[in-house]
Amino acid sequence: MKKQYIIPIFVPHLGCPNDCTFCNQKSISGQKKMITKEDVQKTIDFYLENIRDKEAKIEIAFFGGSFTGIEEEKQEEFLQVAYEYIKQGKAESIRISTRPDYINRKILKRLKKYKVKTIELGVQSANDYILKRCKRGHTFADVKQASKLIRWYGFKLGHQMMVGLPESTRLDEINTAKELIKLKPKMVRIYPVLVIKNTKLEKEFLEEKYVPLTVVQAVEICKELVSMFNKKKIEIIRIGLQNTEEITDPNIEGSEVVAGPYHPAFRQLVESGLWYDTIVAKIKQLNVKIKKVEVIVNPQDVNNVVGHKRENIEKLKDMYSLDLVVKQDAEIKQGRMELKVLEKYPEFLEDHK
Ligand code: SF4
Repeated sequence: MKKQYIIPIFVPHLGCPNDCTFCNQKSISGQKKMITKEDVQKTIDFYLENIRDKEAKIEIAFFGGSFTGIEEEKQEEFLQVAYEYIKQGKAESIRISTRPDYINRKILKRLKKYKVKTIELGVQSANDYILKRCKRGHTFADVKQASKLIRWYGFKLGHQMMVGLPESTRLDEINTAKELIKLKPKMVRIYPVLVIKNTKLEKEFLEEKYVPLTVVQAVEICKELVSMFNKKKIEIIRIGLQNTEEITDPNIEGSEVVAGPYHPAFRQLVESGLWYDTIVAKIKQLNVKIKKVEVIVNPQDVNNVVGHKRENIEKLKDMYSLDLVVKQDAEIKQGRMELKVLEKYPEFLEDHK
């Protein structure tokens, strides 16, 4: 299968008249100035020169901001530049991200004209009270309407949701995932809320009106959401904001993150947490006291089974006095495992003779 590369082009806060309390788009995108069509071209050329795999599928992605909210002329300019690369066969597709209230038939027709393939909508929550509380400026009805139109026009639909918004609970977040699943997205991104400098949320945090989630809390909720999306075969393209010079550990100088569940390997914490739960559940089913177990998984899954800094191996040892041996086999489907008991505790067997 061809590898896919994404050429990211960040469109900062351009045209976004909103001021969501958690957002400082300049920090999140790492982009401080407005971009021009020349910038777009330079970025694409730079990436194309540096992608060695000439067979790879290349997607040009306009991230950040609200692409369809910027002035029409600028949208056309940027899309025109990207479309040239599609026509020349140097890129396969274009992706944009935007707000649900910036989607209508006219906008979708324009995006079709330039062969945009994927549209990601910033949803954040399905709860209108929470949307209002964060000053999103749209409702969940807008999300439903936009999602239907996007699919009706034949685009690939993506959703972005947040975890840990002010006054949002675990149940709100599970409900958001349920509501999104009904709208049949092909992909989702899950972002735990980080408190970013120079945002209204920072003010609320400093005034103790907002308490961010801890890493452990955010991981636990994300595990539930990931399981829900996985069951419906909805691709999860990101969990947690991308690490950049600005989005990094709050203790590092220059970090724009003030507080919140930041972790450099957040996604791995979620995925290895799910593996840990699966292994424990399987072992409990066996109903014997096991000393050593071998788990065989696809090579792609090995790191997550072992856990960040071998966390799963250490935790199984601590909690269950169990040694975990992880082996790989490319024949095993990703996400599946085979489990072999290598050693049982003799005293346990003795007791039951
Ligand atoms: S709509 Fe998007 S870009 Fe605009 S303030 Fe909200 S999160 Fe930031």
